Amino acid sequence: MQTNVINIPVSIHFVNDLNITKSGERLTPWLTEREIRDVVLPEVNRIWKPAGIVWNLNTVDVAKTATSKSEGVARYLEGAARGEDGGSNPELVRNLLSIVPSTDDKVKSIHVCVLPFIGSTLQGLAIPKRQVAFVGQWTDKPSQGRRAPIRCKVIEDGAFVQGSFSRTLAHELGHLLSLQHPDRAVRQPDSLMGGGRPGNALTQQEIDMARKAALKLYPQTELKIATPLDYQVVQRNQRGKGTVTISGAITAALLEEKHTLEVRRDGGDWKRTPVRWGNATFTAQLELQAGGWYALDVRFVGPQGVVAAASVAHVGVGDVFVVAGQSNSANHGEERQRVQSGKVVTFDGSKWQLANDPQPGASGDMGSFMPPLGDALVARFGVPIGFIACGIGASSVREWLPDGSTFPNPPTIESRVRRLPDGSWESKGEAYAMFISRMSDVGKNGFRAVLWHQGESDANQADTSRTLAGNLYQKYLTQLIQQSRKDIGWNAPWFVAQASYHIPGDEGSDDIRKAQAAVWKDRIALQGPNSDAVKGLFRDSGGKGVHFSGPGLREHAARWFEKIAPWLAKQ
Ligand SMILES: [Zn+2]
Repeated sequence: MQTNVINIPVSIHFVNDLNITKSGERLTPWLTEREIRDVVLPEVNRIWKPAGIVWNLNTVDVAKTATSKSEGVARYLEGAARGEDGGSNPELVRNLLSIVPSTDDKVKSIHVCVLPFIGSTLQGLAIPKRQVAFVGQWTDKPSQGRRAPIRCKVIEDGAFVQGSFSRTLAHELGHLLSLQHPDRAVRQPDSLMGGGRPGNALTQQEIDMARKAALKLYPQTELKIATPLDYQVVQRNQRGKGTVTISGAITAALLEEKHTLEVRRDGGDWKRTPVRWGNATFTAQLELQAGGWYALDVRFVGPQGVVAAASVAHVGVGDVFVVAGQSNSANHGEERQRVQSGKVVTFDGSKWQLANDPQPGASGDMGSFMPPLGDALVARFGVPIGFIACGIGASSVREWLPDGSTFPNPPTIESRVRRLPDGSWESKGEAYAMFISRMSDVGKNGFRAVLWHQGESDANQADTSRTLAGNLYQKYLTQLIQQSRKDIGWNAPWFVAQASYHIPGDEGSDDIRKAQAAVWKDRIALQGPNSDAVKGLFRDSGGKGVHFSGPGLREHAARWFEKIAPWLAKQ
């Protein structure tokens, strides 16, 4: 999930010039700006994190109240208490509002006045209409006003006996975002907004209400991240690193040069990152070690603080494989496979998702070998694995050739080829165009290898005039590999499997198998698994079918792993 964080600027005003004495105790201000910055706001942000709301310090000042006024307010607060019904006291509100400093707001912000004391049995008070909160540094709430006020704790130490300054502030900020004390009848335990046992929890309903109010009161500068996508795997390079492109759209205000981009990984330190600006867009590069999932937070910072922020929860640097061929490279296995590691994903051209079968982009809606292969690679190499599945059931290598490539005899299925006047045939190039487009989606060197599993529809066809001769299979597959490398602009490695098995009694074509092996021997491709040997109960329909059973898919995956893993270890 990409969560849009809502940023709310907070202006803090220390009102230190109120000389309040209560029960013989002089209530001197003791909280420092540094504690607000380093302890209080981080704690408030920790409490509000589940709501995706971040309170950013806008300004801190020490308010100067007119002496005549401060004397009157101080005397009033020495005797003040909650309203009769335990609710608000209009006279108290009037007095407190009279000391709010007038500010010349460059940025619309919430105002928090930090007072020595705000009245007997009170710790905080919020006035939503004015978007201002008052919090006291001294309180007699723990003794219900029976003893002299004591210093509030800065943060809770877990006991919730007293109620800390930070928790009080977090609670009052909730009021400023329209939240009220919950009904006694429906009170949740450990609730920030009130309840039998105080705590820091916000209900989903409170989160929804607070976010809605926050967006209305504090319109956010919009930042939409286009890349990386959630669950994206970026191909690692030979140095064991991957370059993640951070790009997106922003509203015009952010285009000013003084806004800087900061990125952090897994909640660590923010790092200033160079940006290339486009027309309401931006691009930046971030190098990450192979691994993941990483959580990335992205924000723009201006002179007033954070102006826009967004996050991507899962970004990985690992290995990406393009899988192509016919049904046994697609979703035609008897049993859908599921990812066990949580780190195998699949890309449909616009979004990444966990690679539970069926794989988007490939034909069929049942099982494939990709989830177990991916899990085995995750276990061996400790990096996330991505798949781009392109397989088309029953397709011949002839149908995968670029538009206009000719051959003497047609495949069994004619929808992706056309007959020429001279009696020969040519590919319409649809599968090829799709294949190039899918490979290009991840850019140059954007995947580790192509896994090619195809040949059954060229071997031993029922109508023998549709069978492709081995020498032509070798020629066309070589043409496909070499032309596709030209068209994607880099020499992608290919693995070619041996695949020609149909059913018991028709268990392979030496001609096609030799052709597939010849492509390895020519060093055009690397040797893939011998999947013709995966038969018996590894095939569907109790061993009678051409597709794999559940155990067969896992065996097929294990054989791919045997070929890929030793090669990958050397990269
Ligand atoms: Zn309250």
